[in-house]
Amino acid sequence: MNKIGRVGFVGWRGMVGSVLLERMRQENDFDRIGEPVFYSTSQAGQPGPEIHNGPEPLADALDLESLSDLDVIISCQGGEYTRKIHGPLRRSGWRGYWLDAASALRMDGNSTIILDPVNRPVIEQGLSDGHRDFIGGNCTVSLMMMALHGLFERDLIEWISVMTYQAISGGGARQMRELLIQMGEIHGLVDPLLRNEAGSILDIDSRINRHLRSGMLTTDDIGYPLAANLLPWIDSDLDDGTSREEWKGVAETNKILGRENNPIPIDSTCIRVGTMRCHSQAFTIGLRDDVPLDELSEMIGRANEWVRIVPNTRDATLECLTPSAVGGTLDIAVGRIRKSPAGSRIATAFTVGDQLLWGAAEPLRRMLAILEERP
Ligand code: NAP
Repeated sequence: MNKIGRVGFVGWRGMVGSVLLERMRQENDFDRIGEPVFYSTSQAGQPGPEIHNGPEPLADALDLESLSDLDVIISCQGGEYTRKIHGPLRRSGWRGYWLDAASALRMDGNSTIILDPVNRPVIEQGLSDGHRDFIGGNCTVSLMMMALHGLFERDLIEWISVMTYQAISGGGARQMRELLIQMGEIHGLVDPLLRNEAGSILDIDSRINRHLRSGMLTTDDIGYPLAANLLPWIDSDLDDGTSREEWKGVAETNKILGRENNPIPIDSTCIRVGTMRCHSQAFTIGLRDDVPLDELSEMIGRANEWVRIVPNTRDATLECLTPSAVGGTLDIAVGRIRKSPAGSRIATAFTVGDQLLWGAAEPLRRMLAILEERP
């Protein structure tokens, strides 16, 4: 395998970036990199992570001259950074590879969305077309595609309706901390009442509800109470009754499959829930054929080495098909596979996957490996 030269890491302190570094350490990816350079937008000069010869001072992520010396930039910093830096860097003549977790460049004609177990041919086509921007897909989209890979590859899907249950880590490190702060504030409010077993549960419930509505809960980063609550809107409002997160479901899926001209209709309702890590999704799938249930399960289960079929029983589901069972693993758990009473060509399924792994970090580190393999 070839060594790749200078690789810059921007955003390595954040949720996605820290999971990326953890995975790269586990897989000894840094041994295959000539020189990793770590950047920060806020901590330039402070010590970076312990990689290779120990902590080097962090470089300034806004310094175009320093960035233009790199062969590859992996940005997990967010879309605002990408919009600020990518254009000027390219216009200055930089020809390196830009790998990014943010959505800013995903739908750009010169970029490829990367999820190599599902779309390696599309990635290879992008490379031979001279693309230099390779962008990780939306986390929920990538997890759906890994889960339903076996049906996509057979072109069995006519349409999908998706309900998502997305963890707070999808909103980044600060929102994760804030959810725990909210939980603590709510618990603190009713702790004395909880200790009194004879106390009224309705009293506890109404105190919590009043507090959630009072504007007193800490909501600086999330914007709304999420603890003891859920938020059925993620990302911006497209002013057509859908959220940007929901639009990504149809737009990105079809770009990843390379079928923008013949798109599969996908209708999503995206919901933020108070789980820490892992996005869960309930699918209703319109099938092109009346495939028997056991064959359907087998197709889904055999498509890639990460899918784990969970038997559709109460015990197996509650043990294995939850964020707490799946978080921190590369498993894509798929269960609740059934035919719908609405028709034999309609199936339902539920999936849970770690959105920081297959939904973010894993496609980026695997793209680096694909670049290394190139002559
Ligand atoms: P994040 O956790 O908010 O981190 C982004 C940056 O915030 C860090 O690199 C760091 O940059 C800065 N930061 C400020 N305070 C911090 C703190 N207390 N702890 C850690 N970092 C702090 O963002 P993210 O969730 O990793 O998302 C990065 C990009 O990936 C976004 O575009 C997001 O949409 C996308 N993405 C996220 C997920 C996910 O599940 N979270 C999944 C797929 C894609 P400096 O060092 O420069 O200050």
